[in-house]
Amino acid sequence: MRSISIFGATGSIGESTFDLIMRGGGPEAYRTVALTGARNIPRLAQMARALNAELAVTAHEDCLPALRDALAGSGIECAAGANAIAEAADRPADWVMSAIVGAAGLVPGLRALRHGGTLALANKESLVTAGPLLLATAARYGATLLPVDSEHSAVFQALVGEDKSAVERVIITASGGPFRSFTMEQMQSITPAQAMKHPNWSMGQRISIDSASMFNKALELIETREFFGFDPDQIEVITHPQSIIHALVGFCDGGIMAHLGPADMRHAIGFALHWPHRGDVPVERLDLARLASLEFEAPDPVRFPALRLARDVMAMRGLSGAAFNAAKEIALDGFIAGDLSFLGMAEVVETTLSQLSRQNSLQIDATTLEDVLNMDHLARETAADAVKSWQQGR
Ligand code: NDP
Ligand code: MG
Repeated sequence: MRSISIFGATGSIGESTFDLIMRGGGPEAYRTVALTGARNIPRLAQMARALNAELAVTAHEDCLPALRDALAGSGIECAAGANAIAEAADRPADWVMSAIVGAAGLVPGLRALRHGGTLALANKESLVTAGPLLLATAARYGATLLPVDSEHSAVFQALVGEDKSAVERVIITASGGPFRSFTMEQMQSITPAQAMKHPNWSMGQRISIDSASMFNKALELIETREFFGFDPDQIEVITHPQSIIHALVGFCDGGIMAHLGPADMRHAIGFALHWPHRGDVPVERLDLARLASLEFEAPDPVRFPALRLARDVMAMRGLSGAAFNAAKEIALDGFIAGDLSFLGMAEVVETTLSQLSRQNSLQIDATTLEDVLNMDHLARETAADAVKSWQQGR
């Protein structure tokens, strides 16, 4: 029986993963080692009971009594805190879903790789923050790292059986989000509630806002570079409002392989779950005649500066990815809290990167987890100061 763990089980990706596992036979077909969540204790307990998990972990100590209550009499072990989540990753499982949101997903992902199993990586932040470390850890322990982000799963699928040296370009698509055709003036007053409404995908709150600002696509540019090792100038972003084509790979003979699918993450999760085979996944089948047309346009670098910042990060490498992601997380917190405007998020990230770069803190090659976590911490402090200065300058 295949053993699995789901980190971030109660989130949007976690729910889709749970759905596929239940449809695939649930506890009769899979042995569930660990499920983790944060605040949604009732759902975490429900999932743990449904899959008869060995262990359920919440990220927050104050949620532990509620988790214990909800799992009383089930025989399922309970634990709480960031360390307990990392320890849950120390328990071997054949297939692990990494779907915690933010840099908090990095340590559990690294620890899970040490068993040499498969890590299905939805948590793009860990590749942006510590790509070389993650890949080196996978290689060292003979683990398999599979992309779950839809664009990266698409690129991965287009590359199966291909010679990577024949690849000329990789194009990832962006929906353009809810503000694709907003004017700069309209963009001054965007609220978090508006930014959370993605036109095509149903996702967690944070990634939805990142999609609206194109910070999600910025993270994905870096993710493409780190995961596949292509040069930054081989990687392009195109806005494609229908979100039907997820990525395209262009070869040296002029041919381009495109990956199409409905906007349902269960395709990419299912691909990672069944790899190296193809398994049935219950997503809607595309009706091309009904779709009729697919549109494309170049993203606007003025209204969406996140992509330019990602290019700077790809040129710099070193610890700049860790700084970029951490600053973005603080800026996003500021926007959600009402301390920062929508456009202010990019300003805070840019200020943070240029300050840290001037101190020569970024150009160091990240060789250890400690280097990465120190930079994550420093960038969060620098970005928090930048949020304060932004407010004072208003
Ligand atoms: P959600 O916000 O829906 O879920 C996040 C999960 O992480 C929840 O289980 C949440 O627990 C848990 N969590 C939150 N904070 C912490 C923390 N500090 N420590 C441990 N666990 C925590 O996010 P998504 O499912 O949308 O995204 C998850 C990851 O997948 C992200 O990295 C995102 O970029 C990536 N991704 C998501 C896609 C999507 O379609 N949603 C598409 C491609 C990539 P709780 O809910 O119990 O509080
Ligand atoms: Mg994506």
